[in-house]
Amino acid sequence: MKDAEPATLDQPRLVPGRACGTCMMCCKVPAIEEFGKPPGVWCRHAVSGKGCNIYPDRPQSCRAFYCLWMQDASFGPEWKPEKAKFVVYVQRNGANIQVAVDPSFSNAWIRPPYEARIRQWVADGAERGRFVFVRIGPRMIALLPGGDVDLGRVDPDDEIVVSRRPGPAGLVYDVEVKRRTAATPASLA
Ligand code: SF4
Ligand code: SF4
Repeated sequence: MKDAEPATLDQPRLVPGRACGTCMMCCKVPAIEEFGKPPGVWCRHAVSGKGCNIYPDRPQSCRAFYCLWMQDASFGPEWKPEKAKFVVYVQRNGANIQVAVDPSFSNAWIRPPYEARIRQWVADGAERGRFVFVRIGPRMIALLPGGDVDLGRVDPDDEIVVSRRPGPAGLVYDVEVKRRTAATPASLA
């Protein structure tokens, strides 16, 4: 839930007239790195029906965050996160799309009309290096042109790497999770 703020050079272009209103989904589904909030649980500063109780002092990642519903007029009212029960946003690499689903409604993204459009992003983006990931709490699913890959638990610090190689029927996509929190090898301990 964001109050109206003056535009700044860093602020993305928002759809005129579109506002968060009563939505607070981005206070639940993404991770907040500044205070280690895991994905899929309410931020401890979120107050139901009221918003953020540290609003003037909220971290930078909250100030900078705007979901695609706020930025893209092609998303109709059914895509507003508090209604859809998931938040669509561009990941930090500026290319990949994340569909961060409320774990209380884990199948929300496969309901019509959502899944068909999400699958279209997969089909249109892969050859250009733009991939789509569904996050449901700690769990991540990579939606690749050859099929979905359930990556299991992926922590916010982990890196997901998608690679392409030629196959007999076209490009083949592989996905790998590089764990940032991997145990220190015994030989280095
Ligand atoms: S998910 Fe989008 S609409 Fe909802 S509070 Fe966050 S930025 Fe606003
Ligand atoms: S600090 Fe405030 S704006 Fe940021 S996630 Fe928590 S409740 Fe939401």
